[in-house]
Amino acid sequence: MNYRQARWEREIDGETVNEPLLAEKRTETVHHDDSALPEEVTRDELTLPELSEPEIASHYTRLSQMNYSIEHGPYPLGSCTMKYNPKFVEDLAGLDAGAIHPARPDEFAQGTLELLHELQELLAEIGGMDAVTLQPPAGAAGEFTGLLTAQAYHRANGEAERRQEVIVPASAHGTNFASASLAGYDVVEFSSDDEGRVNVDALEAAVGDETAALMLTNPNTLGLFERNIEEIADIVHDAGGLLYYDGANLNALLGRARPGDMGFDIMHYNVHKTFASPHGGGGPGAGPIGVVDHLAEFLPEPHVREDKDGNYELYSPAQSVGKVHGYQGNWLVLLKTYAYISRLGDEGLKDTSSMAVLNANYLANRIDLDIPYEPFHHEFVASAGEQDAAEFAKGMLDYGVHPPTTKWPEIVDEALMTEPTEAVSKEMLDVLAEAFADTSDLSETELADAPTTTATERIDQTSAARNPRLSWQAVERTDD
Ligand SMILES: *Cc1c(COP(=O)(O)O)cnc(C)c1O
Repeated sequence: MNYRQARWEREIDGETVNEPLLAEKRTETVHHDDSALPEEVTRDELTLPELSEPEIASHYTRLSQMNYSIEHGPYPLGSCTMKYNPKFVEDLAGLDAGAIHPARPDEFAQGTLELLHELQELLAEIGGMDAVTLQPPAGAAGEFTGLLTAQAYHRANGEAERRQEVIVPASAHGTNFASASLAGYDVVEFSSDDEGRVNVDALEAAVGDETAALMLTNPNTLGLFERNIEEIADIVHDAGGLLYYDGANLNALLGRARPGDMGFDIMHYNVHKTFASPHGGGGPGAGPIGVVDHLAEFLPEPHVREDKDGNYELYSPAQSVGKVHGYQGNWLVLLKTYAYISRLGDEGLKDTSSMAVLNANYLANRIDLDIPYEPFHHEFVASAGEQDAAEFAKGMLDYGVHPPTTKWPEIVDEALMTEPTEAVSKEMLDVLAEAFADTSDLSETELADAPTTTATERIDQTSAARNPRLSWQAVERTDD
């Protein structure tokens, strides 16, 4: 067997690149039934890596060490709520009992259905909603599903044709705009007031007969609580529109305040944010949505319900918008969510939001940067001032921490949107605070060289996103 000597760094076209351990390519002749598949999708030779277990183990261990993860330390990306993912939920998700085929008949899947049913109820209780569907696979998918539900409701009232607009604050997450247009709506943007909250006058002017829904997150992207939320709800409801809650900031309110009590009609839960299931590289996640009573019959199918004999069954709500994901949604992600909520209980959920808010305020207090909008809750938006926020973030990497979200929301110049979460200890907050302080002292030229202590120096972000190398094989670079 020929193994190529492992090398950490390789020269490709005169450039040194970090290259994981590589095996000699081994070419195998594969046999296939020529008649079964069209020729253009079959091949006669297949190149496979051939590695021993120690080599594989060291390969993946090295790769994992090149990366920064939530297991290394704080990940204070504002709005993302990157909290530690406790391992006991993984143990539960790994149980054989969880490996159940999604098409198993209801009578043989009672335990699974019961858990899903209970999670529907728990989420409804947490959000102050009447009915919950677990189907959507992410927050953004929840937004889209929520808007389809709103549309179905307006259609049932004969108002779908007229209600063509979804109103979104300028500071909203990009997915709000995208979901609204994907659902076929015209997006109407409105600005905030001087204090960083909903400008009620601007909103009143924007709301009307054409309004299908207003999408808000509360606290908003500046971490500020929308104090006028009841008035806002009245304005939207009086015009016949619906109020949509973007649940990404629920970590600030968990166990203490409920979107349903504030007047929201529809909401999504980002379970990978609030309820500590991992943010996967693009998934899987889950973005259940909750709705008030009069929208329940439009929710996607299947929904889980309990019959009069205490059995659980899947059913399709009367005027369901249909399916938005396969089967019952991302079951194992939902199981982790259930495990996390049950372990914390009422008091634990309350502690979560208190600690999240306390941590954000402690950290903000310890850093010298200007924070123009207060009082914030679980996150704050500092300004990098004279420095470029993206460069500032590169500088922070050299202090061994993950930087905050940069340049959003745009209402703060050179925004550093920071959310430490409740999972970070005081000691780690101090480390973060020092990283902020040391980075503020760096000159433009020093920042331009950063980072220098990470596994790779600055990468070309555009080509990294456009031409990712996802194969185990070293691909010779052909681009110039
Ligand atoms: C993360 C986020 C979303 C989208 O949620 P995903 O689960 O990532 O699809 C929507 N709105 C806000 C404010 C967010 O932070």
